[in-house]
Amino acid sequence: MTAPTPYRPLDITIPFPELAAWARTTTRLHPRPGNPTAADSSVGGPLLWPADEPWPVCEEHGRVAGITPERARRYRRVLREVYARPRTADGSLAYTEAEQAEMDELQDTCHRPDRHDGGPLPLLALAQFHTRDVPDLAAFAPPGKDLLQVLWCPFYEHADDDPFSEYGPSTRLVWRRAADVTDPLAVLPEPAVADRHSYVPEPCVLQPEQVVEYPYADYLPDELVARIDAWEDDLRARIGKKAPWYQYDLSIAPGWKIGGWDSWHKTDLIRVYCDACGTEMRVLLTIASYESHAAEGSWGPFPAPDTPTGIRVGRDGEYRAFVCPADPAHPHRMSMQ
Ligand SMILES: [Zn+2]
Ligand SMILES: [Zn+2]
Repeated sequence: MTAPTPYRPLDITIPFPELAAWARTTTRLHPRPGNPTAADSSVGGPLLWPADEPWPVCEEHGRVAGITPERARRYRRVLREVYARPRTADGSLAYTEAEQAEMDELQDTCHRPDRHDGGPLPLLALAQFHTRDVPDLAAFAPPGKDLLQVLWCPFYEHADDDPFSEYGPSTRLVWRRAADVTDPLAVLPEPAVADRHSYVPEPCVLQPEQVVEYPYADYLPDELVARIDAWEDDLRARIGKKAPWYQYDLSIAPGWKIGGWDSWHKTDLIRVYCDACGTEMRVLLTIASYESHAAEGSWGPFPAPDTPTGIRVGRDGEYRAFVCPADPAHPHRMSMQ
């Protein structure tokens, strides 16, 4: 497998040697549609879950309207097929009659054509990562654990929301030792409905790749940021529009990833502290709506599917899980950006 991230446009520690002290590795996950098994690291694949362990549920929803996971996947499959077809003579998308009827139904119901029966809602398996596959994961693992599993309730507005996460699904992080799961659950429960199709992941295999990141500028001393700004202006004056930007090209990689640095491009920096002990938390997982943006060109790869997982969060943003470096047992916090 070749490394999907292109060579960095330049080594930012040459003009700014002091940035070396701020460098962190991150593992870009590079999800790609595939058929992961419960033994694999994946987004949207089956979790390696013990048959005798209760599947987590959310009790906060009554007869809530939504879209079934199956319909969410079918909807996206239809869209992919329709976009791959030649357009009609008048230039519109060439839906079959059955597809058009389904699209009309979805539009009539605001994409929420199905309903839950009112009981506890099983959480949805979102992703799982083995430390053997993801280099930056082991640093976060509690002693003896080597598998991180991420589940979510595919609705927002939960009673325990904190202000950071109120526009995102409620998440559950589960650490375990993979070798302990000797009798895995064969069929994983799913919620009857999700709030929106973009909360239901497509099964994706991963191509983990470790890269180096530098902090979002708000984390850096003001005088260093001022010098980076002046350096950017100077570079732009000399080589024009192709000059790389610290923020978009040199500091933080886009897409799903483990570890590294967290971007605060929508709100400016809000430091995240542990509710249990007050320690500043570190970003463990970034769930991203897009793998790459035009504005983040240096990180490539091109061409790449922009939303391979089908997941879109917030205003097409990033939803990050922060954990406590002092004690991995302290509750994680989510933050939308
Ligand atoms: Zn819920
Ligand atoms: Zn803590």
